[in-house]
Amino acid sequence: MLIDAHYHLVAEEWYPEGWWQTVTSMYLNGMKALGMEMPLDMIRQTMIPSLWDPEGEALIRDMDANGIDKSVILPMDYWLMYGEPKASLETQLKAYGELQKKHPDRIVAYATVDPRRPDASEVLERAVKEWGLRGLNLYPQTGYFVNEPRSYRVFKKACELELPVTCHVGQLGAAPLRAKYGDPIHLDDIIQDFPELRITAGHMAFGWHEQLFYLAGLKYNLATDVSAWQDVARSNYVKFCQVLRHALDRLGPDRVLFGTDNPFVAALMSTRDYADIIRELPSKAPAGIAFTEDEVNKILGGNALRLLSL
Ligand SMILES: [Zn+2]
Repeated sequence: MLIDAHYHLVAEEWYPEGWWQTVTSMYLNGMKALGMEMPLDMIRQTMIPSLWDPEGEALIRDMDANGIDKSVILPMDYWLMYGEPKASLETQLKAYGELQKKHPDRIVAYATVDPRRPDASEVLERAVKEWGLRGLNLYPQTGYFVNEPRSYRVFKKACELELPVTCHVGQLGAAPLRAKYGDPIHLDDIIQDFPELRITAGHMAFGWHEQLFYLAGLKYNLATDVSAWQDVARSNYVKFCQVLRHALDRLGPDRVLFGTDNPFVAALMSTRDYADIIRELPSKAPAGIAFTEDEVNKILGGNALRLLSL
């Protein structure tokens, strides 16, 4: 079983141009780090459109090609940071619901809403009751703390609707995204005040993974996913093994989920290759860092099945 618990289905008109500029500059920096050069304009005109997949056809093809059984798709709401996109948030959420309806065994579609929207709780309720969405994704780096009163309203609604929550944490995203809002310590209030909520902290909190692992160690309703660590897995395999081992040691084998953050990092490594790196850990990890088959099976699919009620 292979489940990608962290995928973003994206379309040009769902997000404002400012976001696409941010992704363009992230690609520029990523390519520079790999010793590659491409003008900004060319990245924007060639690489960015290749991410757009409003009907999810490319996603299903990619799942077939890479042996992915299920994908959890996470929408995003950049309302206050970049302004409203051409297509409303409602359009995006409905499209997520439609794709899930078309592929109920393979696609698990989440909702999203910026808690600063005055009608945030109503949007979330509608997304679940009318369009069938099955979880909540939050992206606080756009400018809000998860433990501020407006966010509490949304968490309360998520609890009421019994939704699993994925929260992007860590130091990710170029300007104008602000890393400080992604410090996992702010989740401490949420996991304590909503003990029944199941929260997955995305990206193993890039830059703050140690903090996340210690925080989650004793808070049993907090899990994490390994999305967007492909770069580390490829360029520094020993470090990747050490970090993943640390995650498993602190959180136990039942709360670490496989995820990719694709389509954004698909050019760097295919999902199959990333899953294979994890699959082969029991035989290939460096001396002194041991992984079991049982841990690998749980990461690749077993944990998502259970934690996200798939
Ligand atoms: Zn993400």
